[in-house]
Amino acid sequence: MKTDRSAQLFTQAKTYIPGGVNSPVRACRSVGCDPLFVHKASGCMITDVDGNEFIDFVGSWGPMILGHAHPEVVEAIQAAAVQGTSFGAPSPLEVELASMVCKAVPSMDKIRFVNSGTEATMSAIRLARGYTGRKVVVKFDGCYHGHADSFLVKAGSGVITLGIPGSPGVPEDIVKNTLSIPYNNEEILEQTLRDTNLDIACVIVEPVAGNMGVVVPNLGFLRKLRELTRELGIILIFDEVITGFRLALGGAQERFGIMPDLTCLGKIIGGGLPVGAYGGKRELMELIAPDGPVYQAGTLSGNPLAMAAGLAMLRVVQRPGFYAELEAKSDWFGAEMEKLAAAAPVPISVNRIGSLMTCFFTRGPVTDFTSAMTADAALYGQYFRHMLAGGIWLAPSQFEASFVSAAHERSHLQKALDMTESSFKKLM
Ligand code: PLP
Repeated sequence: MKTDRSAQLFTQAKTYIPGGVNSPVRACRSVGCDPLFVHKASGCMITDVDGNEFIDFVGSWGPMILGHAHPEVVEAIQAAAVQGTSFGAPSPLEVELASMVCKAVPSMDKIRFVNSGTEATMSAIRLARGYTGRKVVVKFDGCYHGHADSFLVKAGSGVITLGIPGSPGVPEDIVKNTLSIPYNNEEILEQTLRDTNLDIACVIVEPVAGNMGVVVPNLGFLRKLRELTRELGIILIFDEVITGFRLALGGAQERFGIMPDLTCLGKIIGGGLPVGAYGGKRELMELIAPDGPVYQAGTLSGNPLAMAAGLAMLRVVQRPGFYAELEAKSDWFGAEMEKLAAAAPVPISVNRIGSLMTCFFTRGPVTDFTSAMTADAALYGQYFRHMLAGGIWLAPSQFEASFVSAAHERSHLQKALDMTESSFKKLM
């Protein structure tokens, strides 16, 4: 594969941008490649600057549930852009998107838009602390909630991929108020939440973990989490930045029938533009400035282009049959993957729910961070490189999800399966 133009751009990028990238996993280090620079993307296809074409299973890490450059999303952005790109004042689009999201997400009475998932989660824990007057945030090992200080304790995503345990620059005084415990472990959960020496304000959880690779929760674990937090007056935050509008219109909470107090959203609600949001019960949300004393603000929050893109995307996913079709396609693809994994010369464990999937290069089962960490990242790197050479664009890390979108047709999925079959055979 010819990659000269990407190589030139990468050299130039490294002069001006740390690691040559604006988000670490994009550097592809853990899969032993240099990044390919993207020229354009359409549907489920992505084209690099050297003209190579790939079937994309990253989908910009989740937002592109309709595929790239969906005509209705592009048209909405164009129409909004000619009216002005930012006003710093309320505009009708944000009211429309707010009401659409609140109607779709069962536990959400009110919503505040921000510009990224990180802003959503950091604002949600501030609100939980403001409401309860308590300090400690409980999270789960391997869950990633963005890069705010409080969350960089046993975090997933790039923090695992790069082998960084936390991060220099995060003061101990801050992370001493974050407690990270194992995912899917009811016993440790109960012990921790009932510990009266701990001043626990909130528990934040990915209701399906996506950032240590996909790890599906035991329903008993999520139910216990809801019961205990309710009993103990602890705020339960679902970080649905990946799962929101992905696992169902109302996200994981709708799919599992478990309602959090606060929900964080991002990715899909921005239609591919930078948007995050947090929302929940009225009594909590009314504590946010200017109604209440909990401060949170944003120059570009509720940006009209981003709201227009989000609205266009959500209008499409709300059409009858959208999720049923995505689910059916993903079920078939996942089942075929499992067959290939079972026949592979190395142990592979496939974790999947709906259109989210990770093939862990380990015997499995993968149920938490410890078992995810048994995966052989070097072997994943080999697989990744074979797939890339065969025209399939996967996440450049073992510890991420792959995403099926509405734009993937059976023929694209079949090609990915064929390439997987031949890639698995080459693994050593
Ligand atoms: N929460 C989850 C579950 C995520 O997957 C991510 C990003 O991948 C974030 C929060 C942070 O979102 P952002 O990268 O938009 O800041």
